[in-house]
Amino acid sequence: MLLSSRLVGLALLTAVISNAQSAPKSPLAPFLSVTDPVVALTHVELIDGTGSAPQSDQTVVIDHGQIAALGPSATTPPPVGARVLNLSGHTVYPGLVGMHEHLFYTEPEDRQLGGLVAGELVDTAPRLYLAAGVTTGRTTGSIAPYTDLNIKKEIDAGLRPGPDLDVTGPYLEGEPPLIPQMHALTGPQEARQMVDYWVGQGVTSWKAYMHITPAELKAAIDEAHKHGQKLTGHLCTVGFTEAANMGIDNLEHGIAVDSEFFPGRKEGECPDGLRGEMAKDLDISSPAVMSMIHTLVEKHVAVTSTLAVFESMAPGHPPMSFLLREQSSMPAEVFASVMTIRGQIGDHASRSPMGTLLRKEMQFEREFVSAGGLLMSGCDPTAYGAVLAGFGDERNLELLVDAGFTPQEAIHIATENGAKFLGRDKRIGTVAIGKQADLVVVKGDVAKDISAVYNVETVFKNGVGYDSQKLIDSVHGMVGYR
Ligand SMILES: [Zn+2]
Repeated sequence: MLLSSRLVGLALLTAVISNAQSAPKSPLAPFLSVTDPVVALTHVELIDGTGSAPQSDQTVVIDHGQIAALGPSATTPPPVGARVLNLSGHTVYPGLVGMHEHLFYTEPEDRQLGGLVAGELVDTAPRLYLAAGVTTGRTTGSIAPYTDLNIKKEIDAGLRPGPDLDVTGPYLEGEPPLIPQMHALTGPQEARQMVDYWVGQGVTSWKAYMHITPAELKAAIDEAHKHGQKLTGHLCTVGFTEAANMGIDNLEHGIAVDSEFFPGRKEGECPDGLRGEMAKDLDISSPAVMSMIHTLVEKHVAVTSTLAVFESMAPGHPPMSFLLREQSSMPAEVFASVMTIRGQIGDHASRSPMGTLLRKEMQFEREFVSAGGLLMSGCDPTAYGAVLAGFGDERNLELLVDAGFTPQEAIHIATENGAKFLGRDKRIGTVAIGKQADLVVVKGDVAKDISAVYNVETVFKNGVGYDSQKLIDSVHGMVGYR
């Protein structure tokens, strides 16, 4: 007995000593693939985020987190001592600036238990966003603001992988709150108090929700602006034109949720079930819609495209190939719930207005951009759960191309436009010398085939390369749990 306990004691002591001798391992280490301070990505196809045409056979040099050199591979030699990655057959574009990146997800639906409810995804959401190339994300409405703020702190401290976050405050919602995690405001005074309190806690942006009253919305916008912060909305009680005139900065989802075009809607109401009429009657080239678009452009109100989540409510969407790509990230019962609801939507295909509305939303987004509007892109992993964090950002790029944008315009919408809105376009959003090295490396030619954006291999955030597949593998079967 004595001998064995001595041995155990010795073993423990040895363990303590060897721990003390080896440097503590970074929690990021399992996901990193490129950690050299100077890296040259050679022979890449470059889509620089400005919307201009792709350039072939380029070299991008990363030096201590910054883009240090950029140009044709023939005339841009890698610096001496650089790690050289020959990436012919790959495309490089800026890290995505996701503008609707919730850190939560819709729980599987169960009619016996009740309606819609969301669950916070502390671990899986940040990893999946980063895996898809999202290096900056606005959370656009929080159900657990302290949790979101702590996640941001840990990402900033290098304790967990994830995008740089712009944490949005708790939803500014009116009565009745859409889900039980939202607070219903009791008036403009409380809207101001809520903004003040959460700005003090570290929140940096705002989102108003469907049932907020006009007076509460106005108070919240003014209070956010007082703190130098911006406010977006997924509105319903208030229409787009009215919100733009109040000074709102951004509108989520697009015309498909603009209640001023719900036929028969009464002023100040959030009606249910007018979608069918809207799909039939809405004419995007009508003077009424054009006038709304011009008001948004004139008042500098940005729009966030969330085509992926919108598509998921249309019969026959999203494509099965997309869902199969997501499947391994979900527990079996979550995937089963998604498939059941997708099937039910398909069963009522002949009566569903959502396919028509999706096409009209796409047309609206094109018109908004041609009128000079700032269109951004976001994931919004909500509805019934068919769109997961990150995967939805990739699908949105594909759908923007479906909507009629070129691949480089789609990338521009998902990168530089978001950076401009956030006021960070001097640091991020395009691939240019002196900018932060936030870069996505994908296999394939994105300009020829946008679906290559699903083949993310490496995501550089601040010059450090993450292995996309390792991030995805690490959340295996966990989306919906944590
Ligand atoms: Zn949302």
